[in-house]
Amino acid sequence: MRRTLYTEEHEVFRTAFRSFVDRQAVPYVDHWENAGTPDRAFIEKAAKAGFLGFEFPAAYGGLDVADFRYNTVVAEEVVASGMAGDTFSMQNDIALPYLLTLTTDEQKQRWLPRFTQGQLVTAIAMTEPGAGSDLRSIRTTARPTGDELVINGSKTFITSGSTCDLVLALVTSEVGGGELSVVAVENGTPGFERGRPMKKIGRKGQDTAELFFSECRVPITNVVGQLGRGLAHIVANLPRERLSIAVQAVASAQRALTMAAEYAQQREVFGAPLGSMQSVRMAIGEIHTEVTALQEYLDRCVLALNAGDFSPAEGAGAKFLATELQWKVLDRTMQMFGGYGYMEESEIARMWRDARVQRIYGGANELLLDSIGKAVLGGR
Ligand SMILES: Cc1cc2nc3c(=O)[nH]c(=O)nc-3n(C[C@H](O)[C@H](O)[C@H](O)COP(=O)(O)OP(=O)(O)OC[C@H]3O[C@@H](n4cnc5c(N)ncnc54)[C@H](O)[C@@H]3O)c2cc1C
Repeated sequence: MRRTLYTEEHEVFRTAFRSFVDRQAVPYVDHWENAGTPDRAFIEKAAKAGFLGFEFPAAYGGLDVADFRYNTVVAEEVVASGMAGDTFSMQNDIALPYLLTLTTDEQKQRWLPRFTQGQLVTAIAMTEPGAGSDLRSIRTTARPTGDELVINGSKTFITSGSTCDLVLALVTSEVGGGELSVVAVENGTPGFERGRPMKKIGRKGQDTAELFFSECRVPITNVVGQLGRGLAHIVANLPRERLSIAVQAVASAQRALTMAAEYAQQREVFGAPLGSMQSVRMAIGEIHTEVTALQEYLDRCVLALNAGDFSPAEGAGAKFLATELQWKVLDRTMQMFGGYGYMEESEIARMWRDARVQRIYGGANELLLDSIGKAVLGGR
């Protein structure tokens, strides 16, 4: 079966993006891992080349390209390049829909041109020290004072947290009837501080940080979407975020399979190639079958998302299946590399480290299964 998701235009875009990544990212992956974040210059170059914010209207510097297949091309090539690449998924897949669909014209004027020029790194801050899976327990408050909101509280594990120019924070607000709201806080706002990048076991090339709000005043015009509707806005965007994670997961599993298959043909054990062992061939065959089948399903999910026909349960299911498969495949293929696979500098080791968190963020997989079960049982 041939994969039919992409057209010739997508493949032209893929070639251009791959060439960009080969020149502008691959030589610097180790440097970014040591620094804990990609260079700002890289983000600006990616934006100028049209790879960030292409979904925004041309009036704001975008390309008016609303087709998630371009996002998945980016995800696949980022994985193939060996970089964590969360800049692309954070900016294009996760933050962009909030800025495109929930903002006023005035907010669009303020933020979108900077985004498409690579000068507005964005973060979404939901998680708090006491509230991760259970977002209803959020304690960061936004107190109305005149035409301002005064924010107090803290967030943790925020992707791009230490480098972002704009954070969309989920807060609880009296003006929203005690319900949650999404409020934008710009870098440099007094009372907004961020911690240094947190030390992680994987995805080291992407910064993750704590954020602190202490009597932090923002104009009420910084509310994104409707006051008191924050949770609904998050829920509406989660299927896309989870599909983005799923696509990266299967791309990673596919890459690990390719690498393991090559290695199994070269590596000799007991006087014969590793791949001549039946158990290794069976493992490769099993992985190939599972990855191919899931890829087909995800391709359908991408088309369904494009058509506006992709449910929260389907997003949760895609993320669950793909990240569980990614972890299984990364662990099994790493085993095939033996001791070489366990070395810090080996690519399979980096992919294995980067894979683990995929089952935790974007909704822990247990939580996802529970939410799918509720949907199947009609909300019980
Ligand atoms: C590298 C990284 C990047 C991140 N980026 C962001 C970001 O940009 N923005 C952001 O807001 N957050 C981010 N997070 C936070 C992430 O979304 C949370 O860690 C995740 O939602 C889990 O929350 P928690 O860590 O508080 O775990 P908890 O909520 O305490 O859950 C702990 C464990 O309990 C289990 N569990 C939870 N709920 C259930 C349930 N209903 N049924 C059964 N078991 C359950 C799961 O196994 C879960 O892993 C990031 C985290 C990491 C590690």
